[in-house]
Amino acid sequence: MDNCIFVVMETAEGVIKNVGLEMITPAKEIAAAKSLKTVAVVLGKNLAETAKQAANYGADAVITVELNSDYSSDEYAFAVAEICKKYNPEAVFIGATQNGKDLAPRVAVKLNTGCASDVTGIKMGDDGKIHFTCPVYGGTILAENVIDTLPQMATIRGGVFKKCEPAESTAEIINENITPENVKTKIVDVVKEISESVNLEDAEVIVAGGRGMGSAENFSLVKELADVLGGVVGATRAPIESGWISRAHQIGQSGKIVAPKLYIACGISGATQHVTGMVGSDYIVAINKDEDAPIFDVANVGIVGNVMQVIPEMINEIKKLRA
Ligand SMILES: Cc1cc2nc3c(=O)[nH]c(=O)nc-3n(C[C@H](O)[C@H](O)[C@H](O)COP(=O)(O)OP(=O)(O)OC[C@H]3O[C@@H](n4cnc5c(N)ncnc54)[C@H](O)[C@@H]3O)c2cc1C
Repeated sequence: MDNCIFVVMETAEGVIKNVGLEMITPAKEIAAAKSLKTVAVVLGKNLAETAKQAANYGADAVITVELNSDYSSDEYAFAVAEICKKYNPEAVFIGATQNGKDLAPRVAVKLNTGCASDVTGIKMGDDGKIHFTCPVYGGTILAENVIDTLPQMATIRGGVFKKCEPAESTAEIINENITPENVKTKIVDVVKEISESVNLEDAEVIVAGGRGMGSAENFSLVKELADVLGGVVGATRAPIESGWISRAHQIGQSGKIVAPKLYIACGISGATQHVTGMVGSDYIVAINKDEDAPIFDVANVGIVGNVMQVIPEMINEIKKLRA
């Protein structure tokens, strides 16, 4: 299967991580421009269902590789490199997850190629090469990177691209048997951190609060607005550092990258480190008492006012509409 783009899908407990499915979208755009196929490479345990899911989300073909764990550096790097050597993809996209960031450079070394990191934009250049946009220096500069060797590898940031609409697919599924060699490490146990789990990445509505909420008590208004809208609570780093809400809710450069249909920013200034994490939202509403706050530059609707007056008003109006 020469002439293809690989999208490497990470799985956890038999479920494909969202970024894996999201990467199919830019891969298909590049593939269409170069008459290539988009091939999902699904790695992990018990892959029958996940392979089908990858096909339903738009992959032209799926290659599965059953491995002994959800992730192990040596095993996975060996498997991906071997599959690449066999099929010669023009490009390999890997999610910029914790594991993906460990895996991609290892594979790039094995294939003697380059890898663009934490990509937020992908386009076909006039030079026939893929141009990857990578935020650098804390997101203040966007660098455009080109990989001069094949395959052109990149880790792709989650939440940046939208998944295709799923549809029943009959795409070919190829099961590859690979026995990893030179495995120097073995996973003996996985201990999950016990922390509050918040599914911000998949939320359709997020109401986020910043320092402008003023106190932990006032921050409960953010939760109330999220509740009436059936949404999830997000936050900037400031209220987390003040102890008003847990770190699981942080959105931004050192938090989660989100792309909901509706994002309501309450008392948030719009610092770059926060905006990089939410600018992919479909519709942004910002409430801030300072009419010059940078958050208004990315907002679709800006409300200049005090959050302590505007949010209760919004909650009341929404409740009336829902009654
Ligand atoms: C390496 C690094 C990584 C970082 N990572 C992140 C990250 O992942 N996520 C993140 O969010 N930040 C991150 N930060 C911090 C970031 O730089 C900002 O400090 C932070 O986003 C500011 O949060 P804020 O907007 O809540 O607070 P502020 O910047 O203090 O803004 C508060 C806003 O509230 C408004 N306001 C005040 N009172 C009211 C009121 N009553 N009604 C309406 N508006 C009001 C003010 O006008 C102001 O605009 C990072 C910083 C660094 C250096």
